Amino acid sequence: MSRGNPDCPMGRLALRRCLRFLCAFIFASASVSVSSQQEPIRVLAFYSTHVEQDHVEFAMQAISFFQGIAARDHLDFKTTSNWDDLNPMVLKNCQVVLWLNEFPSTAAQRKAFEDFMEHGGAWMGFHVAGWMESRATWPWFADFLGTVFSGNSWPPLPATLIVDDRNHPATRGLPASFVSPDNEWYSWEPAPRKNPNIQVLMTLAPSNYPLGFKDTLGGGDVPVVWANKKYKMIYANMGHGSKIMDSKTQNQFFENAVLWLGGRR
Ligand code: ZN
Repeated sequence: MSRGNPDCPMGRLALRRCLRFLCAFIFASASVSVSSQQEPIRVLAFYSTHVEQDHVEFAMQAISFFQGIAARDHLDFKTTSNWDDLNPMVLKNCQVVLWLNEFPSTAAQRKAFEDFMEHGGAWMGFHVAGWMESRATWPWFADFLGTVFSGNSWPPLPATLIVDDRNHPATRGLPASFVSPDNEWYSWEPAPRKNPNIQVLMTLAPSNYPLGFKDTLGGGDVPVVWANKKYKMIYANMGHGSKIMDSKTQNQFFENAVLWLGGRR
């Protein structure tokens, strides 16, 4: 039985080239079919334009950031400034809801959001999205967030953040600490870390204190990013001003977070 001439160097070279070509072709076809079969993650970002100017600036930059990664990450990224879009009809077509610079204010908007989250929806809130005057304003949300706003720093300043948990899909690959750009930082009561449902992902490093001049965070344990394990959610305290999107490291976290919320991590 003839099997060619395995001792002929030219024959072996040709065979190797042929195999290399075949492997490259199989690999390329496999990647094409994976990405074409992969459903886009349907993300809807809520924002407002009538709020504090620094919060509007953040929302605009966050929107262009997510628009910029949408093709690469296969996101179906949409935005709305109509908070009445927090309704069952719109939400049934969403996987991930972002609140960039505000929060719902009517009972119907809040109820639609509660139902969305209680039935497998995913959420990422930035900065003022987690703000609430007191627990009484919306008790469900206080339990969902795991705490209530209690104070803030001023003026906006950069801060060193400790990445507490680098095993979470949203923080995997991040350094142990990094400098987060200028932001107004919030403190919380009760301490999020004491809530058994809360998984703290990033915290203000002790080296930042005292943080602020006019309003100062004097110290203590101040988490800035966390997840509530009962839901598919992440809260991030960043979101004030035009510098938030300047950190590559932090942007990687924002991107990872949305991919995780969309079920890709
Ligand atoms: Zn702010």
